[in-house]
Amino acid sequence: MAHPPQPYDLAIIGASFAGLAAAKTAAMRGLKVAVLDPKPGAGDHVTTTGILVQEAAEEFDIPHSLTRRVHGVRLYAPNLKHVDLFAPGSFFLTTEPGRLLDWLAQEAMRAGAHLLWRTPFTGAGRQGGVFTFSGVNISARHIIGADGARSAVARYFGLGRNKRFLAAIEAQFDHLEGADTRFLHCFLDSSIAPGHIAWVVPGLSAFHAGLAAAPGRRPHLKAFLKKSEPIFGFAKAKAIGHTRGRIPCGGLVKPWAIPGITLIGDAAGMASPMTGGGIRYALGFGRRSAQVVADHLLHFGPPPEIALARVLPRFALDHVLRAGLNLAPPNSLLSAAFGTPAIRWLARHIYFRSRGSQGVSLADFEARLASLESKDSTASAGVFR
Ligand SMILES: Cc1cc2nc3c(=O)[nH]c(=O)nc-3n(C[C@H](O)[C@H](O)[C@H](O)COP(=O)(O)OP(=O)(O)OC[C@H]3O[C@@H](n4cnc5c(N)ncnc54)[C@H](O)[C@@H]3O)c2cc1C
Repeated sequence: MAHPPQPYDLAIIGASFAGLAAAKTAAMRGLKVAVLDPKPGAGDHVTTTGILVQEAAEEFDIPHSLTRRVHGVRLYAPNLKHVDLFAPGSFFLTTEPGRLLDWLAQEAMRAGAHLLWRTPFTGAGRQGGVFTFSGVNISARHIIGADGARSAVARYFGLGRNKRFLAAIEAQFDHLEGADTRFLHCFLDSSIAPGHIAWVVPGLSAFHAGLAAAPGRRPHLKAFLKKSEPIFGFAKAKAIGHTRGRIPCGGLVKPWAIPGITLIGDAAGMASPMTGGGIRYALGFGRRSAQVVADHLLHFGPPPEIALARVLPRFALDHVLRAGLNLAPPNSLLSAAFGTPAIRWLARHIYFRSRGSQGVSLADFEARLASLESKDSTASAGVFR
């Protein structure tokens, strides 16, 4: 005799940043939660560099041991001249994304969510306000689609789908002798990374060397590694991994929610069209969507498609900047414009938002960083005051 499906309040599709953040909050707020993902575990098949912008670091408590604090950005012109950008008190957190996702999964489980690995979403029928899933014997009253840029939930239920993507590719190395770990190294080069940037990022236990290209263009990883070999010395390092992925850059999909189904994270197009950064939005809207769904299901709160509409990211300036970047200006123009105050202002705005670097010289910055190295790094928060 067939068993009746196991009833959940909420089924979350996708166990990455958005889905796991949502699972923890929903379970803590009293919902019975199942999370479905085809991966064997949270930290497997990860396709992100894992940089957290400062806003994410401030909004979420992430274990110190899973992060490295990086204060500056070294921005290179196509001719490899560079400027160092920083802002007092500003930083990025680089992470080991697989371990960070494993930790998020532990947190969700500790809160009471059931994580169903090796379980893809393949479809669901709906009857009387309850979804019954194909291929797995569960039912749920609400679905959160957190299944990434090419969401199966969006496709299956006819919600909005991402149409424009940055193509990204990355290699990881065990150690790069030439990499100054105080900086995210970012490269402008329209022939190698047309319409975006290339990067070398000091993570926790690996260095990430990657790049992305605007819609319809190709990123050239080999050419980038060759060009920046004299700076970083890839030839002497061991390559320990390789990833590629697509980053939505067309903004929020429409519709991103219908009664009973809510898309979040990359599935909803919640990544910056300009930088491609999406982890902050995935974590933030993961948590917020779960609060709203819990309120709706347990306390007659407004439906998520209404409650969340007020707080969605709009990316207005990012869309303008993305349109400019899509033109992939020739390298000669980029190199000529590179040292001008306007470009520096723009770069500083993109990397550090409104936080300026007035009053602190680079020499001062470096001296303070050097003094930090001999101290406990947990004391770094107040260093620029
Ligand atoms: C190379 C690269 C580097 C990046 N670097 C950064 C960075 O440094 N900082 C930053 O902020 N952003 C970065 N991004 C973007 C960032 O990774 C994403 O915005 C973020 O991962 C989105 O999280 P998410 O949870 O919405 O989706 P994802 O992380 O894409 O996770 C989707 C999950 O859904 C699961 N899934 C897929 N299909 C199904 C299905 N049918 N059923 C069930 N589950 C399914 C997948 O297995 C996966 O676990 C990068 C992206 C790429 C490609």
